[in-house]
Amino acid sequence: MRRNRGNLFVISAPSGAGKTTLCAMLCETFPNVRHSVSYTTRAPRPGETNDVHYTFVYADEFRTMIGKGEFIEWAEVHGNFYGTSRKRIEEMMHAGLDVILDIDVQGAKQMREKVPDSTFVFILPPSMDVLRERLTGRMSDSDEVIRRRLKNAGDEIREYKNYNYVIVNDTLEAALKELISIIIAERVKISKVDRDWIERNFLKEE
Ligand code: 5GP
Repeated sequence: MRRNRGNLFVISAPSGAGKTTLCAMLCETFPNVRHSVSYTTRAPRPGETNDVHYTFVYADEFRTMIGKGEFIEWAEVHGNFYGTSRKRIEEMMHAGLDVILDIDVQGAKQMREKVPDSTFVFILPPSMDVLRERLTGRMSDSDEVIRRRLKNAGDEIREYKNYNYVIVNDTLEAALKELISIIIAERVKISKVDRDWIERNFLKEE
């Protein structure tokens, strides 16, 4: 069925739950889904490319964008600023693409108020021990960064009740399958289908 507009999916997880890998795999393997590239004041990690993983900006530039209302949501996460461009998501949705926001729980809270018909998905790691291992294994982050992220993880997980779906990322394949199922289900939901198209094609008197 033809669609007028894409859907918005807000995906949150504690750092280390594998959300970024999952979202990247989703966009690579499933048609008509795009990740919204956020702006951040964080320094790029090795292997990260500007305008692919994030658009990396200085704090004064970020503040100017806040002032101009360019972010649909923004938040300070682990000591850095992150924000979602209103224009970027609008353009993709207008083109009929489903848009994935990989954002933290504070950003999700703002999206719940601004775009309540978004779909909210929370990703959990298989256990707290696995989360700790994954964070320690990321050599690019300092001990201080890891400590701060672990401390924040508990507060983030407490938010799971405010999401529509919960996925436990035990194996990437199974988690991806669950995420794709959610996207398919949302595409055919009665509140999201193109009712004009149905009326025109099936219900209009000749
Ligand atoms: P990282 O620095 O590890 O890439 O991301 C840290 C956290 O910031 C993650 O939880 C990620 O989802 C979140 N994040 C990334 N982009 C945005 C954004 O545009 N807005 C908000 N609120 N959080 C974001």
